[in-house]
Amino acid sequence: ASRRAAAIARRLTRVARDAVAAQVDLLGELDSIAGDGDHGIGMLRGLNAAADAVETADVGAGVRELLGGAGDAWSERAGGTSGALWGAAVAELGRSLGNPDHFTAEDVVAAVAAASARVAEVGGAGPGDKTMIDAIAPFRDALAAHVQAGEDLAACMVAAATAARVGADATAAMKPRLGRARPLAERSVGHPDPGATSFWIIADAIARDAVG
Ligand code: ADP
Ligand code: MG
Ligand code: MG
Repeated sequence: ASRRAAAIARRLTRVARDAVAAQVDLLGELDSIAGDGDHGIGMLRGLNAAADAVETADVGAGVRELLGGAGDAWSERAGGTSGALWGAAVAELGRSLGNPDHFTAEDVVAAVAAASARVAEVGGAGPGDKTMIDAIAPFRDALAAHVQAGEDLAACMVAAATAARVGADATAAMKPRLGRARPLAERSVGHPDPGATSFWIIADAIARDAVG
Protein backbone atom coordinates (compact mmCIF):
# COMPACT_ATOMS: atom_id res chain seq x y z
CA ALA A 1 0.00 0.00 0.00
CA SER A 2 2.78 2.47 0.83
CA ARG A 3 4.48 2.18 -2.56
CA ARG A 4 1.19 2.94 -4.26
CA ALA A 5 0.56 5.83 -1.84
CA ALA A 6 3.97 7.27 -2.68
CA ALA A 7 3.31 6.95 -6.41
CA ILE A 8 -0.03 8.76 -6.09
CA ALA A 9 1.41 11.51 -3.89
CA ARG A 10 4.33 11.97 -6.29
CA ARG A 11 2.01 12.24 -9.27
CA LEU A 12 -0.38 14.69 -7.56
CA THR A 13 2.41 17.01 -6.44
CA ARG A 14 4.06 16.91 -9.89
CA VAL A 15 0.80 17.64 -11.73
CA ALA A 16 -0.05 20.50 -9.35
CA ARG A 17 3.45 21.95 -9.54
CA ASP A 18 3.55 21.87 -13.35
CA ALA A 19 0.13 23.57 -13.55
CA VAL A 20 1.21 26.36 -11.17
CA ALA A 21 4.58 26.72 -12.92
CA ALA A 22 2.72 27.32 -16.21
CA GLN A 23 0.65 30.13 -14.59
CA VAL A 24 3.18 31.56 -12.14
CA ASP A 25 3.25 35.00 -13.84
CA LEU A 26 -0.54 35.26 -14.05
CA LEU A 27 -0.84 34.42 -10.33
CA GLY A 28 1.81 37.01 -9.46
CA GLU A 29 0.04 39.66 -11.54
CA LEU A 30 -3.31 38.93 -9.91
CA ASP A 31 -1.69 39.21 -6.47
CA SER A 32 0.01 42.49 -7.40
CA ILE A 33 -3.34 44.21 -8.04
CA ALA A 34 -4.20 44.49 -4.34
CA GLY A 35 -1.61 42.23 -2.65
CA ASP A 36 2.20 41.92 -2.67
CA GLY A 37 2.62 40.04 -5.96
CA ASP A 38 4.19 36.89 -4.53
CA HIS A 39 1.35 34.40 -4.93
CA GLY A 40 2.74 32.61 -8.01
CA ILE A 41 6.26 32.31 -6.66
CA GLY A 42 5.00 31.36 -3.18
CA MET A 43 2.79 28.59 -4.54
CA LEU A 44 5.62 27.28 -6.67
CA ARG A 45 8.02 27.28 -3.70
CA GLY A 46 5.45 25.43 -1.60
CA LEU A 47 4.72 22.84 -4.27
CA ASN A 48 8.44 22.26 -4.89
CA ALA A 49 8.92 21.75 -1.15
CA ALA A 50 5.96 19.34 -1.05
CA ALA A 51 7.30 17.41 -4.03
CA ASP A 52 10.78 17.18 -2.44
CA ALA A 53 9.24 15.95 0.82
CA VAL A 54 7.37 13.19 -1.01
CA GLU A 55 10.52 12.21 -2.96
CA THR A 56 12.65 11.95 0.16
CA ALA A 57 10.07 10.31 2.47
CA ASP A 58 10.84 6.96 4.12
CA VAL A 59 10.05 3.98 1.91
CA GLY A 60 7.54 2.73 4.45
CA ALA A 61 5.65 6.01 4.74
CA GLY A 62 1.89 5.79 4.27
CA VAL A 63 -0.51 8.45 3.00
CA ARG A 64 -0.76 10.10 6.42
CA GLU A 65 3.02 10.51 6.78
CA LEU A 66 3.54 11.48 3.13
CA LEU A 67 0.90 14.20 3.14
CA GLY A 68 1.84 15.31 6.67
CA GLY A 69 5.47 15.79 5.58
CA ALA A 70 4.42 17.47 2.32
CA GLY A 71 2.10 19.89 4.14
CA ASP A 72 4.73 20.81 6.73
CA ALA A 73 7.35 21.38 4.03
CA TRP A 74 4.88 23.47 2.03
CA SER A 75 4.06 25.87 4.87
CA GLU A 76 7.69 26.13 5.99
CA ARG A 77 9.17 26.90 2.60
CA ALA A 78 6.36 28.81 0.87
CA GLY A 79 5.85 31.46 3.53
CA GLY A 80 2.80 33.69 3.24
CA THR A 81 -0.81 33.17 4.08
CA SER A 82 -1.55 30.77 1.25
CA GLY A 83 1.47 28.62 2.21
CA ALA A 84 0.24 28.23 5.78
CA LEU A 85 -3.29 27.39 4.61
CA TRP A 86 -2.27 24.95 1.88
CA GLY A 87 0.22 23.29 4.23
CA ALA A 88 -2.49 22.81 6.86
CA ALA A 89 -4.95 21.55 4.23
CA VAL A 90 -2.56 18.97 2.78
CA ALA A 91 -1.61 17.66 6.22
CA GLU A 92 -5.33 17.43 7.09
CA LEU A 93 -6.01 15.43 3.91
CA GLY A 94 -3.41 12.95 5.14
CA ARG A 95 -4.85 12.79 8.66
CA SER A 96 -8.35 12.20 7.32
CA LEU A 97 -7.34 9.56 4.77
CA GLY A 98 -5.02 7.75 7.19
CA ASN A 99 -3.30 4.62 5.99
CA PRO A 100 -5.97 2.18 4.82
CA ASP A 101 -5.10 -0.52 2.26
CA HIS A 102 -7.65 0.94 -0.05
CA PHE A 103 -9.69 4.11 -0.02
CA THR A 104 -13.03 4.88 -1.57
CA ALA A 105 -14.49 7.96 -3.25
CA GLU A 106 -16.38 8.59 0.01
CA ASP A 107 -13.05 8.67 1.87
CA VAL A 108 -11.82 11.31 -0.57
CA VAL A 109 -15.02 13.35 -0.05
CA ALA A 110 -14.53 13.19 3.73
CA ALA A 111 -10.85 14.18 3.43
CA VAL A 112 -11.66 17.16 1.19
CA ALA A 113 -14.36 18.28 3.66
CA ALA A 114 -11.88 17.99 6.55
CA ALA A 115 -9.21 19.95 4.66
CA SER A 116 -11.73 22.63 3.72
CA ALA A 117 -12.83 22.94 7.36
CA ARG A 118 -9.19 23.24 8.39
CA VAL A 119 -8.61 26.15 5.97
CA ALA A 120 -11.69 27.92 7.36
CA GLU A 121 -10.51 27.27 10.93
CA VAL A 122 -6.92 28.43 10.42
CA GLY A 123 -7.73 31.41 8.17
CA GLY A 124 -11.06 32.43 9.63
CA ALA A 125 -12.56 33.25 6.22
CA GLY A 126 -16.05 32.37 5.07
CA PRO A 127 -17.79 32.35 1.69
CA GLY A 128 -17.85 35.79 0.05
CA ASP A 129 -14.69 37.09 1.73
CA LYS A 130 -12.83 36.83 -1.59
CA THR A 131 -10.34 34.13 -0.67
CA MET A 132 -9.49 30.61 -1.78
CA ILE A 133 -12.52 29.49 0.27
CA ASP A 134 -14.73 30.77 -2.56
CA ALA A 135 -13.21 28.11 -4.84
CA ILE A 136 -12.71 25.38 -2.21
CA ALA A 137 -16.30 25.33 -0.89
CA PRO A 138 -17.96 24.82 -4.31
CA PHE A 139 -15.29 22.21 -5.14
CA ARG A 140 -16.07 20.33 -1.92
CA ASP A 141 -19.84 20.51 -2.44
CA ALA A 142 -19.76 19.43 -6.10
CA LEU A 143 -17.38 16.57 -5.29
CA ALA A 144 -19.71 15.30 -2.56
CA ALA A 145 -22.81 15.61 -4.76
CA HIS A 146 -21.29 13.77 -7.72
CA VAL A 147 -19.82 11.00 -5.56
CA GLN A 148 -23.21 10.65 -3.90
CA ALA A 149 -24.76 10.28 -7.38
CA GLY A 150 -22.47 7.29 -7.96
CA GLU A 151 -20.20 8.72 -10.67
CA ASP A 152 -16.62 7.50 -10.86
CA LEU A 153 -14.04 9.57 -9.00
CA ALA A 154 -12.38 11.02 -12.11
CA ALA A 155 -15.72 12.33 -13.43
CA CYS A 156 -16.52 13.72 -9.98
CA MET A 157 -13.15 15.51 -9.93
CA VAL A 158 -13.89 17.12 -13.30
CA ALA A 159 -17.28 18.37 -12.07
CA ALA A 160 -15.72 19.63 -8.83
CA ALA A 161 -12.91 21.44 -10.70
CA THR A 162 -15.51 23.16 -12.89
CA ALA A 163 -17.38 24.28 -9.77
CA ALA A 164 -14.09 25.61 -8.35
CA ARG A 165 -13.48 27.60 -11.52
CA VAL A 166 -16.99 29.10 -11.47
CA GLY A 167 -16.46 30.00 -7.79
CA ALA A 168 -13.05 31.54 -8.46
CA ASP A 169 -14.37 33.57 -11.41
CA ALA A 170 -17.20 34.89 -9.23
CA THR A 171 -14.65 36.40 -6.81
CA ALA A 172 -13.90 39.06 -9.44
CA ALA A 173 -17.07 40.87 -8.36
CA MET A 174 -16.16 40.70 -4.65
CA LYS A 175 -14.17 42.93 -2.33
CA PRO A 176 -11.59 41.18 -0.11
CA ARG A 177 -12.60 41.23 3.53
CA LEU A 178 -9.47 39.48 4.86
CA GLY A 179 -5.77 39.15 4.19
CA ARG A 180 -3.17 41.39 2.65
CA ALA A 181 -5.47 42.51 -0.18
CA ARG A 182 -7.92 44.19 2.19
CA PRO A 183 -6.39 47.69 2.41
CA LEU A 184 -6.54 47.97 -1.40
CA ALA A 185 -9.85 46.11 -1.63
CA GLU A 186 -11.47 48.49 -4.11
CA ARG A 187 -8.64 48.02 -6.56
CA SER A 188 -9.20 44.28 -6.72
CA VAL A 189 -12.82 44.57 -7.90
CA GLY A 190 -13.02 43.24 -11.45
CA HIS A 191 -10.16 40.78 -10.86
CA PRO A 192 -10.42 37.28 -9.39
CA ASP A 193 -8.76 36.40 -6.09
CA PRO A 194 -5.26 34.93 -6.62
CA GLY A 195 -5.71 32.11 -4.09
CA ALA A 196 -9.08 31.07 -5.53
CA THR A 197 -7.53 31.14 -9.00
CA SER A 198 -4.55 28.93 -8.07
CA PHE A 199 -6.95 26.53 -6.36
CA TRP A 200 -9.02 25.98 -9.51
CA ILE A 201 -5.87 25.74 -11.65
CA ILE A 202 -4.60 22.91 -9.41
CA ALA A 203 -8.01 21.21 -9.21
CA ASP A 204 -8.40 21.38 -12.98
CA ALA A 205 -4.94 19.91 -13.62
CA ILE A 206 -5.52 17.03 -11.18
CA ALA A 207 -8.97 16.32 -12.65
CA ARG A 208 -7.66 16.29 -16.22
CA ASP A 209 -4.82 14.01 -15.17
CA ALA A 210 -7.30 11.65 -13.46
CA VAL A 211 -9.42 11.43 -16.60
CA GLY A 212 -6.27 10.62 -18.58
P1 ADP B 1 0.32 36.61 1.19
O1 ADP B 1 -1.00 37.34 1.15
O2 ADP B 1 0.79 36.31 2.57
O3 ADP B 1 1.35 37.26 0.31
P2 ADP B 1 -0.26 34.75 -0.95
O4 ADP B 1 -0.10 35.92 -1.86
O5 ADP B 1 0.51 33.54 -1.33
O6 ADP B 1 0.04 35.14 0.55
O7 ADP B 1 -1.78 34.28 -0.93
C1 ADP B 1 -2.83 35.21 -1.02
C2 ADP B 1 -4.12 34.41 -1.05
O8 ADP B 1 -4.33 33.78 0.20
C3 ADP B 1 -5.35 35.26 -1.26
O9 ADP B 1 -5.58 35.49 -2.64
C4 ADP B 1 -6.45 34.43 -0.63
O10 ADP B 1 -6.99 33.48 -1.53
C5 ADP B 1 -5.72 33.64 0.43
N1 ADP B 1 -6.02 34.15 1.77
C6 ADP B 1 -5.54 35.25 2.38
N2 ADP B 1 -6.04 35.35 3.63
C7 ADP B 1 -6.87 34.29 3.80
C8 ADP B 1 -7.70 33.80 4.87
N3 ADP B 1 -7.75 34.45 6.05
N4 ADP B 1 -8.41 32.66 4.68
C9 ADP B 1 -8.36 32.01 3.51
N5 ADP B 1 -7.59 32.40 2.46
C10 ADP B 1 -6.87 33.52 2.62
MG1 MG C 1 0.88 37.66 -1.74
MG1 MG D 1 3.36 37.67 0.71
